[in-house]
Amino acid sequence: MLEVRDLTVRFGGITALDGVSFRVRRGEMAGLIGPNGAGKTTLFNCLTRRHDADSGTIVYEGEELTSVAPHAIARLGIARTFQNLGLFPRLSVRDNVLVGAHHRGRAGFLTAALGLPGVRREERALRADADAVLERLDLARVAGHPASGLPFGTLKRVELARALVGRPRLLLLDEPVNGLNAAEVEEFAGTLGAIRDADDLTVIVVEHHMGFVMGTCERIVCLDFGRKIAEGPPAEIRRDPGVIEAYLGTV
Ligand code: ATP
Repeated sequence: MLEVRDLTVRFGGITALDGVSFRVRRGEMAGLIGPNGAGKTTLFNCLTRRHDADSGTIVYEGEELTSVAPHAIARLGIARTFQNLGLFPRLSVRDNVLVGAHHRGRAGFLTAALGLPGVRREERALRADADAVLERLDLARVAGHPASGLPFGTLKRVELARALVGRPRLLLLDEPVNGLNAAEVEEFAGTLGAIRDADDLTVIVVEHHMGFVMGTCERIVCLDFGRKIAEGPPAEIRRDPGVIEAYLGTV
């Protein structure tokens, strides 16, 4: 589904990604790990066209992503969540989730105010979809509640809901369990696994929580100083001397 080839990104004198290559198969849950500053978020930014790479290519479902406009990424079926929650505190949970469906409306929500029947039908359908996603993520109870004031674990699920309402085929999760307690991490892992299976999603997870990564990902890519230092199933990565030295310490 995805092939990253020789990707290099420089910020002035810093090489954030240095010739990184890997593939992700359809339906796979892949992990991207590495110490702070290894280049993980930069890689996500390239996959969503927030950054241009200096060299290298990204081929997604047979299409070269560098030729795709940044605003068209969601239409291609790529959605992401962010390390720092990007929710609107005063908007309700439902409206925050609907933001993730912006690319699915033909004319956008503003024109719904003009009262065109087709647009109103479209908006109703999107709202029904948002409600279905809220239900799946056990957020229906708080759908009308403003995002501010909700527990952090709930907000993490709202972020996931916002990504899912866009009906992605490739889901990029940036530190989805950071800040969650052990029970919430376990619950999130279960929910994500169930959604991945039901929706036939391909997932790439950036995460420092090794229990989560090792337990949920089928294959892991480890970056260090912008270079890929290892790639393989969790059991191999856990034992890889380069990964242990750069990142894991004694495990
Ligand atoms: P973390 O685990 O801390 O989130 P990361 O693996 O996601 O780290 P990146 O955020 O991709 O790492 O950063 C890779 C390198 O690129 C770092 O040295 C960082 O300081 C640098 N970098 C990232 N974005 C920029 C930018 N916009 N301008 C300058 N340097 C940047």
